Amino acid sequence: MSTPLIWFVFMNLSILLKPGHCTETGDQVLSITPQTQEQVDILRNVSTHYETVLWQPVSNEYISTQVQAHLYVPANSSVTVKAILQKHGITHKVLLANPNELTKMQMKNDSTDPRSSSTFYERYHTLEEIYDWINRTAQDNPRTVKVILIGSSYEKRPLYVLKLSFNDRPNRKAMWIDCGIHAREWISPAFCMWFVHHSLSFYQQNSEITRILDSMDVYVLPVMNPDGYKYTWTTIKRRWWRKNRSISKSGFCVGVDLNRNFDVDWGIKGSSQNPCEEINCGPFPESEPETQAVANFLRRHKDTVQLYITIHSYSQMLIFPYSYTFDQAENHNDLTHVLAVLTTGRTNLASNTPLRLSSRTVGNTASCYHLLTYPGPATKRCSRSRPLLSRFWRKHKLRQTITRSKQFCDCY
Ligand SMILES: [Zn+2]
Repeated sequence: MSTPLIWFVFMNLSILLKPGHCTETGDQVLSITPQTQEQVDILRNVSTHYETVLWQPVSNEYISTQVQAHLYVPANSSVTVKAILQKHGITHKVLLANPNELTKMQMKNDSTDPRSSSTFYERYHTLEEIYDWINRTAQDNPRTVKVILIGSSYEKRPLYVLKLSFNDRPNRKAMWIDCGIHAREWISPAFCMWFVHHSLSFYQQNSEITRILDSMDVYVLPVMNPDGYKYTWTTIKRRWWRKNRSISKSGFCVGVDLNRNFDVDWGIKGSSQNPCEEINCGPFPESEPETQAVANFLRRHKDTVQLYITIHSYSQMLIFPYSYTFDQAENHNDLTHVLAVLTTGRTNLASNTPLRLSSRTVGNTASCYHLLTYPGPATKRCSRSRPLLSRFWRKHKLRQTITRSKQFCDCY
């Protein structure tokens, strides 16, 4: 069989990240770039011991010199945290002055809110609204959309996949798109909803969409982590929750990073077996029902699924394997070619060069992330990271693998 293509897509929240006016009393997101190892250690300590949320990188072990860190600082920690930074000569800028106000706006869908002019597909939706949308979409499109229940979450919420299938040709290939692995990345489920709507609306209207949907089925999982997503909508001060909601054996901390729970190179560097960590990989591979459900579904469909896309935030990146090494995946040239065509329309681009295209970055995951984070020699950089995410595919002898950089990322 041919090699499946696997991409991470990062959605941009830059509209919410413009520097704002400093309000000393409110919550803020600070942008901090440590200049020395001592400053790195101080920042790690601050993010660990004070009530803060590290937005970027995903874990404080990845904080490093000359790399921008984004730290959410609640109002009640603000004075203390800033005093510590100042004491150690660590400069910061306010990246986001009042995230809570923006969060409230994100949750408003009534006619009085400033976003009321936006359409249904330009708003964020509660989990219940998404479930309702899934049912309505299937009911309204009985010949082309089928709802598949692939399992349930830790808290027993259903995991629904929408299968878009526009003809009955035998041996059809398929693509998989999942959204909402990480609870706080609301734009990800919103994208899956938009994608389904767009596909249904423009089939036989737009030639490219028609050609794709005529040749492939599409499996769309709008919310892989419904418990976490629900939690971010309903629990005060938990808008930035990332993991699922499973309770660890010790009962002390909650949540597993589902993206680190797959059964490929599970638990190696770049993840943590500490249940209190944001990058907790769980007690064992596929320990989480959400991961099990997805992995089992993909195992059943591994002969047909050719393309795996997972949607995350925040950034403007299109990235593909590998991230643990600068070595190129077997189908690197194919991947680069496809992305080059998608983003530029040009087809004569060098296959081993990450592309920086205004606000976007595309290319090999390792190259993209190291481009952003480690300007040093490539050979040294390679040795710092390990394969993490391609686990499912590698185990099943699909040659292509998704991998995860250990150095930098809020998102995956
Ligand atoms: Zn993510």
